[in-house]
Amino acid sequence: MRYRCEVRSITNREDGVEVGYRDRHGVLRVGRGDFCVAALPLHLLARIPHLGREVTAAPVTPVPYPVGKLGIEYGRRWWEQDLRLYGGITRNDRLRRTLDQGAKIYGDVFRRDVRASFSVGWKRTPFSEGGWVEWASPDLPEYRLLTRPAGRVYFAGDWLSHWISWQNGAFLSARDAVTAIHRRVAAG
Ligand SMILES: Cc1cc2nc3c(=O)[nH]c(=O)nc-3n(C[C@H](O)[C@H](O)[C@H](O)COP(=O)(O)OP(=O)(O)OC[C@H]3O[C@@H](n4cnc5c(N)ncnc54)[C@H](O)[C@@H]3O)c2cc1C
Repeated sequence: MRYRCEVRSITNREDGVEVGYRDRHGVLRVGRGDFCVAALPLHLLARIPHLGREVTAAPVTPVPYPVGKLGIEYGRRWWEQDLRLYGGITRNDRLRRTLDQGAKIYGDVFRRDVRASFSVGWKRTPFSEGGWVEWASPDLPEYRLLTRPAGRVYFAGDWLSHWISWQNGAFLSARDAVTAIHRRVAAG
């Protein structure tokens, strides 16, 4: 596992794959393997060269969602204790707007006793640049293309599943990729 490394290129070779990356010190390096599972967010994969014109063009099709998330620390877990809510999503934006919007749903309790908050705009987060993507249809040729390997490069991510924006989709897709590699290697 190499952390804080930025993949810059993925190149199929006759007998393996070369992954060009910039390490945490800014040094350009090349990693080699028999196969590669490319699990980057789809719209960022489109920027990685050397996978062929069709493959590079495919990820441009779906639209990345500019998702944000905001956390608020309260003195008391009122939504669980009073409303018996233990999950779910309340859609809103930055703190002031969030409190206004939340109060419409939960009443004034949403504004009281706030201790802290944080928020993240995934669109502005490097190496993410969006929450998740949406394909118009999983029958699109571009989607189908990416479910197959490009040479020795396999693709995986929630975006390559029917559970986009859920970890479940990422797991299912990853399992598909490693199963396909296993079958290929076992078949010789
Ligand atoms: C706001 C928000 C809320 C969510 N809530 C839930 C939830 O409640 N439950 C749930 O199941 N799912 C949730 N999801 C979805 C979940 O986060 C994703 O389904 C899951 O993270 C997808 O996993 P992945 O491995 O496919 O991709 P990611 O987790 O996106 O992993 C891709 C990785 O690639 C790295 N990367 C990008 N570019 C490069 C590069 N050039 N070189 C090297 N590495 C690179 C990124 O840093 C990242 O670590 C949420 C997502 C968002 C944005």
